[in-house]
Order: sequence, then C-alpha cells, then structure tokens
Amino acid sequence: MAPILSIRDLRKSYEGGFEALKGVSLDIEEGEILALLGPNGAGKTTLISTICGITTPTSGSVTVGGHDIRSEFRAARQMIGLVPQEVALEPFEKVVNTVRFSRGLFGYGRDDARIEEILRKLSLWDKRDNAVKELSGGMKRRVLIAKALAHEPRVLFLDEPTAGVDVELRKDMWEVVAELKAAGVTIILTTHYIEEAEAIADRIGVISGGELLLVEEKTALMRRMGQKFIEVQLT
Ligand code: ATP
Repeated sequence: MAPILSIRDLRKSYEGGFEALKGVSLDIEEGEILALLGPNGAGKTTLISTICGITTPTSGSVTVGGHDIRSEFRAARQMIGLVPQEVALEPFEKVVNTVRFSRGLFGYGRDDARIEEILRKLSLWDKRDNAVKELSGGMKRRVLIAKALAHEPRVLFLDEPTAGVDVELRKDMWEVVAELKAAGVTIILTTHYIEEAEAIADRIGVISGGELLLVEEKTALMRRMGQKFIEVQLT
C-alpha cells in the first residue's frame, strides 16, 4: 500500500540563509505513530509546519494521500489535522461549538452525529456544554485535539503535545494517543522525551541540526542502541 505521507528531500532556509531543514525524506504508513525526537532548535516545528503547508519549503516535496501539499493544498490539507505547539482556545466558547466551528471551516454542515463521535472519542462528550475556561488543563488539551480532528483528517500532527505539563497530564496524553491509534488515526508527534517516544510510538525518528539522523522501528532501535545513545543525541 502507498504511504499516507511522503516527504522527499525537504529543505528550508529561513531569511538570512539559516538552513533549518537540510534534506529530510520520510514515508509514513497509514495507522502508524511516529515520534520525532530532538533537542531545542533541531527543526521539529519547521518540519511539521512545512509538511502541513504553513511554511513554504526552499525545495523538496510532500504528498498526503497522494496530494501535493503545495499544488493541491486544499485536498492535502483536508487530510491533515494539526495541533501546533502554541495555540489558544476561545475561553468562553462551549466545547461543542469549538469543534463545530473547526469542522465548519472545512466546509462541513452541522453534522451533529459526527461531532458527537469526535467528542466521545476524546472523552469530552460530558463536557460538551461547558465553556472551555471551565475545563482542566488535560481536558483543554483534549479539546485542541478534538478541534484538529473535527474535519476527520487521516493524519494528525501533534507538536510537543506534552511540553510543560506534569507527569499525570503527560500520561493522559499518552492514553489519548493510544486510543486514537486504536481508532486508526496516523499520528506524527514531536517530543524532547525519549520515554514518551518509547511509550507511544511505533517508529522513532531522531532529528538534530535540521537532519533526520535516523528513523527506526522503536523496539529495534531501543534494543540496538540502548537508551544511552539517544540521550547523547538529545543533549
Ligand atoms: P523546539 O524544540 O525548541 O521547539 P524545534 O526542534 O521545533 O525546537 P524549530 O522551531 O523548527 O526547532 O527551529 C529550527 C531552527 O530554525 C532554530 O535554530 C530556529 O531558531 C530557526 N527558526 C525557526 N523559525 C524561524 C524563523 N521564522 N526565522 C528564522 N529562523 C527560524
């Protein structure tokens, strides 16, 4: 089967000539979870925003479900859900309306049954009539994911979903990822934490200095190299 996501020799130089991506190539199979591990400034966010068509690459290509992210942006973007690293929710909006609005942006009608399905998937159904500001930190993160899933994308990007959260919340997010995987969603997430990648990913990619140093099936990687090697890469 063709990969759901294909990235070929993706390069990005920012103004001033700084090369944040130095030729990244990667295929993602439908249903898999890939964790991209890397230190601050490695290029993780640049990679995600370039894949999603928010940042224009200097060269290279990305196809999502066979659609080129640049020449067929609308079709490709329809297949992508994105939870950026820094994103604000409207505090006074009801949870259900937050998701409904996001779905509407992609041209869908009311579709209450689908909204219910999405909210149930994230265990938010009971909170649907609460204003976002009334929710706990963990529930707010779930709302961000529900918003990103509102248009039923096939690939979900989570940029450092557990940055700055405590251990409890981190584990809650791991559970959410596991549940989404069980529901067949393909997930690419970035993280600084090896234990996070180990807990939730099928494959782990290590990115540093704008290069994808390796991408391997998790268990093979952990067995072959041991944790120490990866800790060295990340410091
Ligand atoms: P972090 O883990 O800290 O979020 P990251 O791995 O996501 O880091 P990026 O945010 O992609 O890294 O940044 C990669 C490099 O590109 C960094 O050196 C950063 O300073 C630089 N960079 C990012 N955005 C821009 C920009 N708009 N203009 C110039 N340089 C940028």
